[in-house]
Amino acid sequence: MAQSKEEKSRKSLNALREKRKDPKYREEERKRDRIRRSKPGVRDLENQRARERHAKNQERGNKISRATYWKNPQKARDHAKNYRITNADKINAKILVTKIKVLTHYSKGKKISCCCCGFSEDDHNFYALDHIINKKAMGHTSYHKGAHLYNWAINNNFPKGLQTLCHNCNQAKSDSGICPHQKD
Ligand SMILES: [Zn+2]
Ligand SMILES: [Zn+2]
Repeated sequence: MAQSKEEKSRKSLNALREKRKDPKYREEERKRDRIRRSKPGVRDLENQRARERHAKNQERGNKISRATYWKNPQKARDHAKNYRITNADKINAKILVTKIKVLTHYSKGKKISCCCCGFSEDDHNFYALDHIINKKAMGHTSYHKGAHLYNWAINNNFPKGLQTLCHNCNQAKSDSGICPHQKD
């Protein structure tokens, strides 16, 4: 009986999996891959295809990771916690890059500055991201702060409703609803 196409590809995949259990085979395979990917254009093309494949299968991938998570939630949580601890430097550096990117975008000029008083000093520590529009109206909860809020802004292509304020103006605004700078 003729084999179906799927059956064939599954069989060859299983055979490959068996071969890869041999460290020597893996070493050879890596060597071959390095040579192949070192040819001009190959790396870019393969990365491009991988990104397309990822985008196409994202839904399925999410479903699988969700199922894996719920099989043993505690294990997944511990794993995430350990990851955060061992990679803290890397994660913080990445958050800082997104923070500066978002704060700069929601400033009036090309540099980070306060949208209320114009205070401009090249240090991100002086600034906060402020909701101009009501948080609820934007569908935001207590989750949307700090790194989560920066990522939200980037993932949603910088929607209107946010602004960069210096901590001074931000505090005054949160205390009395409006910054004294804005009162006549
Ligand atoms: Zn200010
Ligand atoms: Zn102000």
